[in-house]
Amino acid sequence: MEKDLKSKTVVQLERLVTGLGQPKYIAGYIFSAIQSRGVTDISAITTLSKSFRAKLAEEGYYISKLGIVDKLTDPDGTVKYVFGLHDGGRVESVLLFDDDRRTLCVSTQVGCAMGCVFCATGRLGLARNLTVGEIVDQVNLVGGDSPKADARISNIVFMGMGEPLANYDAVLDAVRILNNSAGRHIGIRHLTMSTCGLVEGIERLAEEDIQPRLAISLNAPTDAIRQKLMPITKKYPLNRLFAVIERYQRTTRNRVTFEYCLIKGVNDTVLHAQMLVKRLRGVMCNVNLIEYNPHEGCNLKPSGRQAIERFAGVLKDAGIETTVRLKMGQTINAACGQLGAKRTENLE
Ligand code: SF4
Repeated sequence: MEKDLKSKTVVQLERLVTGLGQPKYIAGYIFSAIQSRGVTDISAITTLSKSFRAKLAEEGYYISKLGIVDKLTDPDGTVKYVFGLHDGGRVESVLLFDDDRRTLCVSTQVGCAMGCVFCATGRLGLARNLTVGEIVDQVNLVGGDSPKADARISNIVFMGMGEPLANYDAVLDAVRILNNSAGRHIGIRHLTMSTCGLVEGIERLAEEDIQPRLAISLNAPTDAIRQKLMPITKKYPLNRLFAVIERYQRTTRNRVTFEYCLIKGVNDTVLHAQMLVKRLRGVMCNVNLIEYNPHEGCNLKPSGRQAIERFAGVLKDAGIETTVRLKMGQTINAACGQLGAKRTENLE
C-alpha cells in the first residue's frame, strides 16, 4: 500500500515528488486529481508531464479503487453501501440524511477486535485494518454516487465497522486528506472519531496538530455494567477512561460526545441515568442516546420509547445536552451496531 497514491497526504506526496526530482507544487496536482476529481489512473493526471506519469508508473505507483458491490435504501432514506476490497473482504458505509446534514458513517477496519456484545461487527473479529485509500474512497464513492449525496457530504463519523483508534495512523491520515481544501474539504469540526475508549489513542489525539471531534461509546454508568457489554472495560476501567478524557479536554478544550445505546433492563433505568449524570459531572460534553438495534444472534432487547424519554429527561434536567437518535436504516441492517455480520455470513 506504500505505493498507493490515494493513501497519501499532501505532505507525503510532496516528499515523494521531490524525491523523484520534481518541484513540490506538483504534489498538489496529484492530490486534487485523485481526491477531488476522482481520477483512478495515473495516465489520466494530465496536469503532470507525460514523462513524469510514466516515471510514477515505472516506480510501481498506482491509485487504488474500491468497488460498490451493493447499495440498499431504507424507506426512511438511509442508504447502506457495501464495498468490495481487493482481497475479497467487504466493508460498509451508511449515509444518513438529517435536516440539511448528510452524514456518512465510515468503516476503518474489516471486522473489529473489541467484541462489544451489542455490535454485529464485534462478532466478526478483526480481519485487518483498512488502508488510508480504502477509508477515503468510501467518502469519494458515496460522494460521487448520486446527485442527492453529491460532493456535499457534510459530516463524517468514523463509526462504521472497526475501532478507529486501533487503526490510528491510517485514520488520522484520512482525516488530513478529507479536511484538505484541495480535496473534499470537510471541516475538521465535522469529522468525528468514535472510540470504545482506547486511552492511549485518546492521549495521542490530544497532542495532534489537527483536532477532529471525539466521541466515546460509553453505554454504561458503571464498570460492572460496562464490562458485560464492552470487554475493553477490563483493560480500561471508567476511572482510567475519564482521567484521560479530563486530560484530553485540558489540552484541547474540545467537547466530547458520549454515545449511549439503551438496552432494556441492562442500562436504561432512571437509576442508571442518575449514575450517568454523576459520572459526567464536570465533563464538557453532550450525550447521544441511541435506540438499541436488535440483530440476529444477540438476545439483547431495545428499551421502549417511554424508557428512552425518561432517561433523556433525567439527563436534561441535570443540564446535560442530550439528543435522542431513533433507529434509522432498520430494514437494511444499517443502524448503529448492525454493520457487517449479514453480508459476511452470506459470503461464507
Ligand atoms: S461497537 Fe465499535 S468498537 Fe465495539 S465491536 Fe462494534 S465496531 Fe468494534
